[in-house]
Amino acid sequence: MDFELSEEQKSIQEMARKFAEAKLKPLAGEADEKEIFPRAQFEKMAALGFTGITCSQEYGGLGLDHVTYIVVMEEIGKACLATAGTYSVHQTVQYYFEKFGTEEQKEKYLPVLAKGEKIGALVLTEPGAGSDVASLTTTAEKKDGFYSINGNKVFITTGGEADLYIVLARTGKEAGAKGISAFVVDKDAVGFSIGKKEKKMGYGGSPTTELLFTDCNVSTKDLLGGREGQGMAQMLSALDIGRISIGSIAVGIAQAAFEEALAYSKERIQFEKPIFTFQGIQWMFADMATKIEAARLLCYQAAYSIDQDNPLSIKQASMAKLMATDVAMSVTTDAVQILGGYGYMKDYSVERHMRDAKILQIVEGTNQIQRVVIARCL
Ligand SMILES: Cc1cc2nc3c(=O)[nH]c(=O)nc-3n(C[C@H](O)[C@H](O)[C@H](O)COP(=O)(O)OP(=O)(O)OC[C@H]3O[C@@H](n4cnc5c(N)ncnc54)[C@H](O)[C@@H]3O)c2cc1C
Repeated sequence: MDFELSEEQKSIQEMARKFAEAKLKPLAGEADEKEIFPRAQFEKMAALGFTGITCSQEYGGLGLDHVTYIVVMEEIGKACLATAGTYSVHQTVQYYFEKFGTEEQKEKYLPVLAKGEKIGALVLTEPGAGSDVASLTTTAEKKDGFYSINGNKVFITTGGEADLYIVLARTGKEAGAKGISAFVVDKDAVGFSIGKKEKKMGYGGSPTTELLFTDCNVSTKDLLGGREGQGMAQMLSALDIGRISIGSIAVGIAQAAFEEALAYSKERIQFEKPIFTFQGIQWMFADMATKIEAARLLCYQAAYSIDQDNPLSIKQASMAKLMATDVAMSVTTDAVQILGGYGYMKDYSVERHMRDAKILQIVEGTNQIQRVVIARCL
């Protein structure tokens, strides 16, 4: 067992850290407040090769492992949630194509996704089907040489900005997971449109929208994997990648809040001493640091298991997501507390980190659903 990152991983981590500090962090507050989608930042990440980090070299990626990926993800998440959220979904889409796509689909879609020329999105949720995705009602009816998709989706990350959407829809008459298939839908497909853009508590730079499908016809070649009824099983496997991504973003956010609070506590004088000298504050930091370290290790372990094709990765990815996002919520809340009244003001980033942490407990399966998954594995 080796807890050290390899030399290559350390140098990629350093590159990601410098990039995130210089190009993402300075813009993150404004992106959140003014709801600016970080397309330019995403393009810069593409130029560095980050958008194709795990995609095989054969399809234009770097072919690196998932531990390296989440090491990068933590740095991006630490600096800007909107960029990290876009990146996370985009990488999960690539994993989906690589693992389940037909050869034709891989050749068509992976190179443009890996190079960041097109952005991917994942489309599951409906007004009546959130945690219970298998109850979705969007249909894809097979006609002569194409499928006709009808239905409404909600809360879709990168909605309106993405170019390619992996959409779950019901092809069979069977209820539940068995009748569900996945399709690739291009942003310009006829019958596909973007609905309402949500106003959110935070995460402003990442658009969250409704998607509307009205007689949206897609080729039978766009049935993912070429077989009906596989959509739910495929998506659940791909969500393991989403879960380690969200876990690592959470570690990054917790680390950012921790560092800001630590620096502040060493400068803020009350009762003629830096507040860091009070044991009540020191113990908060000791707990925060311990939780962050534990969360990071769970994320590394889950990513390592995914790379080894270890079936334990399902449980570990859920544990990593659950633990890391709960840690991010508690650490960012403590960071706001340590800054006192200033922590509640927008002059410091900890208030944004606290709002950002909250969404991570909800997306990619709520933390209650992670517990359901973990318990099922037990
Ligand atoms: C900002 C944002 C971005 C999103 N991005 C995407 C996206 O890109 N693609 C996409 O498809 N979806 C996306 N979603 C949707 C997200 O995945 C769902 O919101 C989430 O899965 C929960 O579904 P719901 O909101 O319908 O809540 P519900 O499923 O209605 O849950 C309500 C509450 O009940 C709890 N609950 C439900 N079932 C159980 C159970 N069995 N046991 C215990 N508790 C339970 C939940 O944990 C939650 O606390 C996004 C959501 C947000 C807010």
